[in-house]
Amino acid sequence: MRNVNIQHWLNETKSGPAVPDLRLKVEKITEIIIYATSLSETQTDEPPTCRRRPKRKPCKGNLIINFEYPDQIHWICPACQDEGFVTGWEGLIWDMTDEPDNFQ
Ligand SMILES: [Zn+2]
Repeated sequence: MRNVNIQHWLNETKSGPAVPDLRLKVEKITEIIIYATSLSETQTDEPPTCRRRPKRKPCKGNLIINFEYPDQIHWICPACQDEGFVTGWEGLIWDMTDEPDNFQ
């Protein structure tokens, strides 16, 4: 299982990948962050699809995403068992949780 600290893959302004080679990885993780942090408002949305290509065929699984700990997002693909944790997402542009000031 992987533990991805997204901060390590971002550029200085934290708005995109640090290097072009990381673009697809960053896209996958940011999709997971957006889905996880907006769950309460968009429960009907389809979760992101798995981006892996086991045996060179695109995996068709829909990721199962939830919070393992308040600061740790867990994902698993039920089809290919790709699994990992995301940390370091708080406060990024993909973090859809409410600002504390707006919390009702
Ligand atoms: Zn998969």
